[in-house]
Amino acid sequence: MTLPKMFRILLVEDNPGDVRLVREMLAEANPGSFDITHVSCLSNVSRTMGNQEFDVALVDLSLPDASGLCTVTHLHNVNASLPIVVLSSLTDEDTALLALQNGAQDYLVKGRGDAHTLVRALRYAVERKQSEDKLTYLAQYDHLTGLPNRALFRDRLNHAMTLVTRYQGTTGLMFLDLDHFKEINDTLGHDVGDLLLKAMAVRLKNCVREGDTLARLGGDEFTIILDNLGGADDATAVAEKIIAAMQPPFELGEHEIFVTTSVGIALYPNGGKTAEDLIKHADAAMYHAKSLGRNNYQFYTATLDSQGLQRMTLENRLRHALEREEFLIYYQPLIDPHSKRITGAEALLRWQPAGEELILPGEFIYLLEQTGLIIAVGKWVLHTACARNRAWQNDGLAPIPVAVNLSARQFRQKELAATVERALLATGLESQYLQMELTEGLLMENTGLTDRTLTTLKDMGVRLSVDDFGTGYSSLSYLKRFPLDTLKIDQSFVHDLATGPTDPALVNAIIALGHSLRLTVVAEGVETAEQLAFLSKRGCDEVQGYYFSHPLPAAEFTAMLAGGRPSAP
Ligand code: C2E
Ligand code: MG
Ligand code: MG
Repeated sequence: MTLPKMFRILLVEDNPGDVRLVREMLAEANPGSFDITHVSCLSNVSRTMGNQEFDVALVDLSLPDASGLCTVTHLHNVNASLPIVVLSSLTDEDTALLALQNGAQDYLVKGRGDAHTLVRALRYAVERKQSEDKLTYLAQYDHLTGLPNRALFRDRLNHAMTLVTRYQGTTGLMFLDLDHFKEINDTLGHDVGDLLLKAMAVRLKNCVREGDTLARLGGDEFTIILDNLGGADDATAVAEKIIAAMQPPFELGEHEIFVTTSVGIALYPNGGKTAEDLIKHADAAMYHAKSLGRNNYQFYTATLDSQGLQRMTLENRLRHALEREEFLIYYQPLIDPHSKRITGAEALLRWQPAGEELILPGEFIYLLEQTGLIIAVGKWVLHTACARNRAWQNDGLAPIPVAVNLSARQFRQKELAATVERALLATGLESQYLQMELTEGLLMENTGLTDRTLTTLKDMGVRLSVDDFGTGYSSLSYLKRFPLDTLKIDQSFVHDLATGPTDPALVNAIIALGHSLRLTVVAEGVETAEQLAFLSKRGCDEVQGYYFSHPLPAAEFTAMLAGGRPSAP
């Protein structure tokens, strides 16, 4: 360790004889290397420490205005990072030990030891203080992001709860989790994952106020203690700020990554009486946010407890659903708006547990994704839809492409293209009659793997479409980059067309954009004659929606396909 050239010492000592002695000893040991500032009582210490910087404090324990341990604790409170060496005439071991436990680095007894002992003690105190601080830091802070870690977070939470109890205010606890972090880590590697967490920390930091604690508990789990809230609205404001702050892509090396986060909030004292409860509840609220489609925030409510249980049982039942053959596929026709003939079909997953009502994907797809079951179920969907389409052709029905939805998780598998190829080979379906529906988010991940998989699928002759277009991301560059065939305008745009906030000009623009890139444009969620008229006038190539037909079980769809067009309207 290198010490400063001029060693600055704060000497707190009321006995003039001892002051003189110390000065002489230091001058004798290293002439000219010590700059000694002397104060003779504790009440002057704060001011002196405010005006000047010191490397070490050398203090007597018996002062006119303080005695014993409180001299040490006072100094420590004024500046916790200043090393302290006690120089006392008290010889008992207990006092020495207590001084060390309360912030002093060393304890010397007056009249024992020579000048060198004193100098060495001062130097070691500085060194020891540095390693102590380092250890404290390591024990309390996350080394990757520099944020408080779990231990310090717990400390601060307890502290905040105590204060709030005293002043009858509200503290908010927020749990955040990066959506799909594991997949990002798995596909792009830990280095990129780490960069992302660091960048996240910086953005989050900008969303919280001065007194709030942003901590990282590990992995992609962040927490925020919202100090002294006016009420739930304040927490809402922070949550909204966070969601918005995640919108712009993260530029990490050559990668451009889009992430969203799910936020759970519990308020103290209403949302939990103890720190444990509060943490558990904020966590439950976060899972609830995830289950509602991620990228949102939720407050803890008492009903979430029972929902947590439901989630567990649902997960277990889903694990068995495939082997029990409880999944089925419904088919919804795509229609040419002019001829009203069927031009394709979308395969939509359904779950029919024995003796229960049919369950829609909105209720369980997220769990399939979270648990990884989507890989196996997705294979089954692919295979079944291909087999069904082949069977229609074998029966002499007009050949149409069948569209299968792909979740991001499936897409991130290296062997996806091989899986698709196997399904085509096994069922004998020609590749041009299979279409894969991808989401914008998936395309935006912008990895080498995305490029390769899409190109391979395209080269095989499989058609590619972008599902729910317009909902996710504003960057359209990927439309040009990837070998796509079809754009499906999200149903929300179609739904609002006649009545709501969607500007018809926007739908016009999407159709025009699609056509300028030579893509087929499909509108989803067409429910009324007005919507159909609008879309058909603007040159929309295909439509899909309840106006023509709900998704149907295979047998019913077969009958409809035999007629070439839906019977209604
Ligand atoms: P999606 O791919 O956008 O499918 C269209 C959804 O809109 C379907 O919901 C369909 O039933 C519904 N829909 C069709 N016409 C209308 C209409 O006129 N009005 C309204 N309001 N809705 C209409 P569904 O079947 O509940 O599926 C929901 C989502 O679940 C799908 O959205 C898709 O993202 C996902 N999904 C479905 N099957 C699978 C699958 O096998 N694998 C994966 N990964 N995702 C699937
Ligand atoms: Mg779809
Ligand atoms: Mg869609």
